[in-house]
Amino acid sequence: MRVSTDKASGSDGRLFTVVVEGYGVGKQRRAARTFTVSYDRLQSLMQSIARNGGRIRLVSADSVAPSAEATTPAEVAVPHQAASDHGAEVSEVQPTPTPAKPPAAAAVSHAAVPVNLYKPKEPFLGTVLDNYSLLAEGAIGRVNHITFDLAGGDPQLHYVEGQSIGIIPDGTDAAGKPHKLRLYSIASTRHGDDLADHTVSLCVRQLEYEKDGETIHGVCSTFLCDIQPGAKVKITGPVGKEMLLPDDEEANVIMLATGTGIAPMRTYLRRMFEPAEREKNGWHFRGKAWLFMGVPKTANLLYDEDFHRYEAEYPDNFRYTKAISREEQNSKGGRMYIQDRVLEHADEIFAMIENAKTHVYMCGLRGMEPGIDEAMTAAAAAKGLDWSQLRPQLKKEERWHVETY
Ligand code: NAP
Repeated sequence: MRVSTDKASGSDGRLFTVVVEGYGVGKQRRAARTFTVSYDRLQSLMQSIARNGGRIRLVSADSVAPSAEATTPAEVAVPHQAASDHGAEVSEVQPTPTPAKPPAAAAVSHAAVPVNLYKPKEPFLGTVLDNYSLLAEGAIGRVNHITFDLAGGDPQLHYVEGQSIGIIPDGTDAAGKPHKLRLYSIASTRHGDDLADHTVSLCVRQLEYEKDGETIHGVCSTFLCDIQPGAKVKITGPVGKEMLLPDDEEANVIMLATGTGIAPMRTYLRRMFEPAEREKNGWHFRGKAWLFMGVPKTANLLYDEDFHRYEAEYPDNFRYTKAISREEQNSKGGRMYIQDRVLEHADEIFAMIENAKTHVYMCGLRGMEPGIDEAMTAAAAAKGLDWSQLRPQLKKEERWHVETY
């Protein structure tokens, strides 16, 4: 596809409206979505739509910024099949200049992992690019995928898979002090969802609980779920070295996630199996990856379509096992949790763990830890092994990675 613009050079202040179908998650795929993006963001949006199989219906350029010279709005109707997997061509639009170099495409050693590039006293001001629900009709609560533009920082805020960033919500607490930061696991690879090397995405559930008969909503999670594209957000970090992926392309990776604990797992799986990401990162995973994902309802599954696509494309390398707690029952008639699935597959999991190339990652609810331990204890005992001795050994070998809240 060609987007014809009169002023295809540098950032010129115009905004572009892009109408797309079949792009996004769940019901978003069925509805037409409209994005308004700056010139600088246009190409990466096109790439993201193309990569995710979206169909671009219309691109229109409008002169909006007061400083921009008046331009005739250019309206380009796009053929139905324009956005193929390998790219909506936008050859007349210049690529966004990359502000600073992110880490090399190959895996990074722990020493080279960036930490605390931005601290709470001087956070980076990121711009919200996108914020949409990941849930299908009938799901419990709110979970959004939110993407921030990190371009323009000095140093550029960059990160690797498995790290977290801090968000400082606007406003003040009950004592009139600025809010403290909250950490969120990063849900995008180091290259960002649009592969432009200067965005970061989060997967955020709005915290909701009852206190003294009142429904309380989390300050930062509500701030994030409500935030609109274009808003500026204070970002710190990155932090964390617990959940880094091994460098080895032949490693095996077992992932245990509940709810939004899927965030780091999504980064690993994109790095391993998302075609354009794989092409860019040059890391050609050949091991076995197995995701155990726990959610309350089918409608609460996160990034489910992507995972099924990876399963179809890489049947020898990826396995996806779900535990839908409020729709399925375990063998005792209770809610189906991921530890029940771990028990069902205990032999295979143990055979994998005995291989020194296998790493286990756990992320999500802290409550799942004892359950997983119990399941592993039973599985180990069936093989005449003692899990209480094995687990510290795996930890020491940096093969047992846990991040739970
Ligand atoms: P959610 O959608 O509510 O799903 C959580 C799933 O886990 C539900 O199916 C739930 O079942 C099940 N579950 C409840 N208790 C369990 C237990 N003891 N063992 C195993 N499974 C259990 O999840 P969410 O609200 O997004 O929550 C995710 C949690 O992960 C939050 O606490 C969040 O703070 C944390 N988190 C941590 C990190 C991190 O450490 N880096 C990152 C992201 C998220 P039922 O509700 O049906 O009982």
